[in-house]
Amino acid sequence: MSGSLFDLIRSRIPSADTILIETADGGARISYGEMLTRSARLAGALVRRGVKPGDRVAVQVEKSPENVMLLLAVLRAGAVYLPLNTAYTTAELDYFVGDAKPSLLVCDPDKREGLAAIAAARNAALETLDADGKGSLTELAATAPADFGDVSREETDLAAILYTSGTTGRSKGAMLSHGNLGSNAAVLADYWRFTERDVLLHALPLHHTHGLFTATVTLMLAGGSMLFLPRFDADEVLRLLPKATTMMGVPTFYTRLLQHPALTREACAHMRLFTCGSAPLLAETHRAFFERTGHAILERYGMTETGMNTSNPYDGARIAGTVGFPLPGVDLRIADMESGRLLPQGEIGIIEVRGPNVFSGYWRMPEKTATEFRPDGFFITGDVGRIDARGYVHIVGRAKDLIISGGFNVYPKEVESEIDALPGVVESAVIGCPHPDFGEGVTAVVVAQEGAEMTEASVIAALEARLAKFKLPKRVVFIADLPRNTMGKVQKNALREVNKAIFL
Ligand code: AMP
Repeated sequence: MSGSLFDLIRSRIPSADTILIETADGGARISYGEMLTRSARLAGALVRRGVKPGDRVAVQVEKSPENVMLLLAVLRAGAVYLPLNTAYTTAELDYFVGDAKPSLLVCDPDKREGLAAIAAARNAALETLDADGKGSLTELAATAPADFGDVSREETDLAAILYTSGTTGRSKGAMLSHGNLGSNAAVLADYWRFTERDVLLHALPLHHTHGLFTATVTLMLAGGSMLFLPRFDADEVLRLLPKATTMMGVPTFYTRLLQHPALTREACAHMRLFTCGSAPLLAETHRAFFERTGHAILERYGMTETGMNTSNPYDGARIAGTVGFPLPGVDLRIADMESGRLLPQGEIGIIEVRGPNVFSGYWRMPEKTATEFRPDGFFITGDVGRIDARGYVHIVGRAKDLIISGGFNVYPKEVESEIDALPGVVESAVIGCPHPDFGEGVTAVVVAQEGAEMTEASVIAALEARLAKFKLPKRVVFIADLPRNTMGKVQKNALREVNKAIFL
């Protein structure tokens, strides 16, 4: 067996007849045996279109089972998979294609016309694939042989480039190797006790590491099955829960399910595990979900550059508001933000990680890569956190969201937790806005429950007894909903932009 991720997946196939993916509407059903032939034909099609080992294949398509087949085909061809969010505009795609220089671009048929010029200018071939798995690429694959001589790969060879959803500056391409992806998925399959009997309800997008690798590859390494939903839909999820055993979600999945009257203990009786990550899960959501269903959501922490780093335990306490322990093989430490000095247990600092899961660097950005790693190989995540006395990791926020007001550090999470605990508050986001005296002024953006009687003054008054004066919001603004991206992450940069003149 080579170091190829596909070899690892192949080595774990349960039986050719076991279902790998079934769509929620019953329209498509692919067994592991069919996966082998379909991905072989697609790999053949890639080669016919000129894809060579090491080439990038950029993919901007709607989620479908065929999309997973394409990922596997790219791996079999020894090429590098480059998923792109379907929300990206043509101008954004021009940047990605110019930066990654793929030899093939696969897009939805609707986008073909708009992308033809970009592909031609960058010398990339262009093929299509739609949400039903149809398109010029599958037509080409239909005439390719049902077996394919897989290209051998080392574990250190590149398997994928995932552009981070960077909010400042240029988006960076995280280079992930076959070994990074395979080792992380193998650890997760084991840690979360995935087996052939599992049916994973898959409602995440496929252009992001969570839905693409954490969910799909972990499940395949256990030889289980997936039920594919094109996107999250609370009604659909509730209809399908009795057929599933596990679901991986982002926090908004759970808040939306909690708003649904059909979410009950009985509705979840067939499930053994709900996991959550990609953004912080409110402790309140964790508790409410447990009360309604009897399931303690298992929260974990990871990022595009590293895959999963920590997880709450499968057995043992899944503690709300924490992301659990470093996964087997992952070294995690807390360092001083400026000096990089290691901090004693319990103190807040920057989270650094090292392990077989950690990427090798940013595509064509050696200088940027060098500044993000310590000399001993630890990656500086940019997340701020601490480790408690029991060893659980807590995330306080992103370093760039840290507020420095009058020379004091204010960690938004601490203020948000206090605000969220006030009666009538749904959720909140705390940001720093330019302030003439303090540098930054603490600003709270609050979502109140309908009909809640709450004013700026009442929120500040309620917090006075609970927070040191320098942490108190100087302004509180109310908003109907917090702006979020597709992974449920609150877009604090958008909130900062809207409120940038609030103190000026
Ligand atoms: P991405 O690269 O899009 O997966 O985003 C990774 C970032 O999401 C991390 O660096 C964290 O800031 C955040 N994140 C992921 N999981 C969690 C979690 N469980 N709690 C808080 N933040 C998280």
